[in-house]
Amino acid sequence: MSVLKLQSDVIYGPINSRRLGHSLGINLLPTTRKLCSFDCIYCQYGSSDAGSLPEEHTGFPSLETVLQSIEKALSQQPQPDYLTFSGNGEPTLHPQFPEVVAEVRRLRDRTCPNVRLAILSNSSRIHRPEIREALQQLDDPIMKLDAGDPATFAQINRPVPGVTFEKIITGLAATPRIIIQSMIVDGPVQNAEGEAHEAWLSTLAQLSPEKVQIYSTERPVARTEVQRVSKVTLEGLARNAEKRTGLPVRAY
Ligand code: SF4
Repeated sequence: MSVLKLQSDVIYGPINSRRLGHSLGINLLPTTRKLCSFDCIYCQYGSSDAGSLPEEHTGFPSLETVLQSIEKALSQQPQPDYLTFSGNGEPTLHPQFPEVVAEVRRLRDRTCPNVRLAILSNSSRIHRPEIREALQQLDDPIMKLDAGDPATFAQINRPVPGVTFEKIITGLAATPRIIIQSMIVDGPVQNAEGEAHEAWLSTLAQLSPEKVQIYSTERPVARTEVQRVSKVTLEGLARNAEKRTGLPVRAY
C-alpha cells in the first residue's frame, strides 16, 4: 500500500473530518513536494526529504493566490464548517504566514463569518512570537504534541536540526489558547504506555490546553513498524488522561 498523494492545489476537499466536520483545506506548501520540519514515523505523506529545510523560499503560493483560491472555492460550493490550514507539510513554514492568516481572517469575516478557521500544525515554529500571535487569530489552533520527553519526541517526530523539544514546550506554554492534538502509536517506538506515556501526561497537565484530541494512525504510514492503537484503547487512554490532568480529552 502506498502513502497518500500530495495535494495538488492551494485548496483541497472539502474533507469530512471527524474533528472538524466539513472542512475545506488550505495548502500553503508547495504542491510538488512535502515540506515539513518533522519526519514523523506515521506521516501519511511518506518520509520528508532527508537533511534540513531548503534555505530558499520557493514553491509557496503567494498571498494573492491563497486569497483568490479561497474566494473561488467558497463561491462554488456550500459553506464548509471550517477553513483549515494544513496540506503538504507544516503550514507555519510559509514565509508570510502571519500576513496570510491576517488576510484570510479578514476575508472570512467579510464573506462567511460563520465559518471557523483552524490550523493543524506540528508546533515547530511556536517559539517565534509572530507565529504565536498569528495562531491566536485562528478559532481553533490545533497543535501537535506526541511526546512529553525529548527522546520520545526525537524518535516519533524526527525533527530537522534546530527544532528542539524544549523550544516547542516553551512556545506552547507561552500561547494562551491552544488545542493539543496527539497521535498515539504502538510498536518499537511508542507513546501509549510506560515512561513515554507518563511524560506526555505530565507535559499536558503543565501546558493546560483548552482541550486535547487523541487519535491513532490510519495506514499507510511512513514506517511500516508503526502500529495502530485501537479505538477501545484510545477511549481508555482518554478517560485516564482526563482523570490525571483535569483536562477535556477526546479520542477520535
Ligand atoms: S508534522 Fe505532519 S506533515 Fe509533518 S511529518 Fe509529521 S505528520 Fe507528516
